[in-house]
Amino acid sequence: MNDCLFCKIARKEIPATVVHENDRIVVFMDIKPVNAGHMLIVPKKHFDDYASTSEEALREMAVAAKRLGKAAMDALGAPGFNLAVNNGRVAGQLVDHVHLHVIPRFEGDGHELWHGEAYKEGEMEAVADKLKKAIA
Ligand code: AMP
Ligand code: ZN
Repeated sequence: MNDCLFCKIARKEIPATVVHENDRIVVFMDIKPVNAGHMLIVPKKHFDDYASTSEEALREMAVAAKRLGKAAMDALGAPGFNLAVNNGRVAGQLVDHVHLHVIPRFEGDGHELWHGEAYKEGEMEAVADKLKKAIA
């Protein structure tokens, strides 16, 4: 038995407000929501982060995200939603058990996405070449 917070929630050792569950995933309300209805999709099997998660578990999470995002739109009147994964501390990951955030979005809710900035001449192609070589 490990000490992981989300494993404990999956095993029902710590309470959470579960909205959806099957043998492989559990979905519960985030206790500090970005907007009301913010949910976390969590595989019951432990993976430290997105990059180390099995493709099978990722598929399960992605399919659940569609259903839960649509549920947020239907039930809460959200015109849209964001799906987010923070992979690694630098990206804001605080809980080391992979989870997909489903965040209902409302007009004028004040949340902004990050802003893009144009590449310098030739930079995009150079970065793309590095990525192409690393893609497994
Ligand atoms: P991240 O920064 O991507 O690792 O997100 C962790 C999320 O887990 C945060 O949005 C927290 O509010 C949420 N969280 C932490 N502890 C709990 C808990 N016991 N129950 C529900 N959500 C939690
Ligand atoms: Zn875990």
